[in-house]
Amino acid sequence: MDAVRKAGTAVGDLIWPPVSPLTGRNVAATGQLEAASWAGIHFLDAPWCDTCGLPFAYWVGAGAECGACAARTPAVHKARAAFAYGDSSRQLVLDFKHGGRLDALDQLAQWMVRAGSDVLGGAQALIPVPLHPTRLFSRRYNQSVLLANAVSRRTAIPVEPGWLVRKRRTPTQAGQSGKARRRNVAGAFAVTARGQSALPGKTIVLIDDVMTTGATFEACAKPLLRSGAVFVNALALSRVVKPADPTT
Ligand SMILES: [Zn+2]
Repeated sequence: MDAVRKAGTAVGDLIWPPVSPLTGRNVAATGQLEAASWAGIHFLDAPWCDTCGLPFAYWVGAGAECGACAARTPAVHKARAAFAYGDSSRQLVLDFKHGGRLDALDQLAQWMVRAGSDVLGGAQALIPVPLHPTRLFSRRYNQSVLLANAVSRRTAIPVEPGWLVRKRRTPTQAGQSGKARRRNVAGAFAVTARGQSALPGKTIVLIDDVMTTGATFEACAKPLLRSGAVFVNALALSRVVKPADPTT
């Protein structure tokens, strides 16, 4: 099987020479990034907010929360992301989101699994954040489904894309404040009949490409919890990181 896959990759490489998903320059194998590009990506790691995964500048003790999570308990039990959304990673995320650059998918999943050990352990299902069907049509594929499938291949946690749906199309969130984003997506997601019967007692991990304020994950988590999920965690490829002071 591996030999067949390798042969397939080799043939593919002749037709589409492997290039870095970040810079477009040639690299040794499909999905590889150049070392120089890696250096610019800010991978996320502890110390971080135990709840939302926002990185802290210094260690403040196990289980510490950022000010925002301490002020209002989120519906999402724990959230993590592989790297900060910034100058070096923006193009990688945008190409993946809009340009169909799928050759880095397994590499991206590997980073998500590494960052997500706290949220993946004990989980029984991965649920990709659903796109509205009309947006899915314009984009051709749902990047959160692709990421969930790739994470599933590495963790053997099944993907359940049929348990949660987006009921209405929400305006693009770019440039909006946290409050506006929460208002925007509140009530936008619903659990399907299949989800209703499967969710009770389960620990779920929501999967998405970018976490900005966490509003979309929150809007997904609420109906899942109402339907009986015990914990809803979240794992994103990338997240917006604003400076956090764990003491405020
Ligand atoms: Zn937090």
